[in-house]
Amino acid sequence: MNEVLEYFQKIITTPFAKDITVYGYEFNYQHHLITSPIFYLFDELNIIENIAPLSNENRDGRIREKKYIVIHDTGDTTSYRDAKYWSNVVKTEDYENKPYKASFQYVVSNKGIYHNIPDDEIAYHAGDSTKYDYALYDTGILAAPKMDIDIKDGYYYINNQNTMIKAPSADKILTKKDFNDNGILVVIKNGTYHIGETYFNETYQKIANRGGNNNGIGIEMCINEGENIYLNYQILAKLCAQLMDQNHLEIKDILPHHYFSGKDCPMTMRKNQLWEHFLKLVEVEYQVLTLKKAGYIITLEPISTNITKQGLLKDLNSEIRFIIKTKKDNVIDSYEYHIKNTSC
Ligand SMILES: [Zn+2]
Repeated sequence: MNEVLEYFQKIITTPFAKDITVYGYEFNYQHHLITSPIFYLFDELNIIENIAPLSNENRDGRIREKKYIVIHDTGDTTSYRDAKYWSNVVKTEDYENKPYKASFQYVVSNKGIYHNIPDDEIAYHAGDSTKYDYALYDTGILAAPKMDIDIKDGYYYINNQNTMIKAPSADKILTKKDFNDNGILVVIKNGTYHIGETYFNETYQKIANRGGNNNGIGIEMCINEGENIYLNYQILAKLCAQLMDQNHLEIKDILPHHYFSGKDCPMTMRKNQLWEHFLKLVEVEYQVLTLKKAGYIITLEPISTNITKQGLLKDLNSEIRFIIKTKKDNVIDSYEYHIKNTSC
């Protein structure tokens, strides 16, 4: 068994179904989501170029180093306003005959991924302004096995030591309880803790991180009624893996819009506790991409009828059986995988 087949054997897991609420700004709906046992989508990315002209006000044009991938959902459950629709909203700066000022690099759907703004440019999606770039401030505090960050007397404290770095201020006294759910940026560099650029977002009453608009690649995912939401998670994960590879990013650099503003976005993924699951999909996509770059061609052949060639599961009612085939340097290898029925 080669490294690819071994890898799949290690990660293949019992799938589950979950009835989720999909949250829209006009209406919510119920959706039956079935996860993948493989966490990998056996398909190619379908990216449709629909770049907004430089004359657009929502196309900034300034180039920045990308440090993040910023995940959103459109919040739009109405079926006709799909990826193509939203891509054209950005391109024409028109939403239902009203001016549209926002922009994002990509919008992901079952029907393809639309590309609106070049990856290396600033776009207007994260709500953290474009005045501040990604930055790190050295606290001088030596890194320890555990890190705890808080605010005391207006300064950030790490492991009970004053960092001498001012925390944002507000009308109320701010503490760690006011951090957004994903925390604030602290990295270890040359043995000491460094803190990122933070601010207090008045709208959402949260301390959030800068660098979303400037240093993020903004991706909207569609949640329209009729879309296969889990398939969108898988396509999004595959796109993230490609962008990680192209921009030398890591899993920790994939963050929800919430991290940059405190907004509850991507709301459906967050409210249904699927963010961590999504990050696992990205991790597997990234590992398999690395294996493909090493020369492997990897395909799936269904044996049972409840799984597709893409690796999508139709139901959980019976045993799942499929073959994964690899080809590298004209050597063909394969392995048959069985997953027992779990719903009985
Ligand atoms: Zn968002």
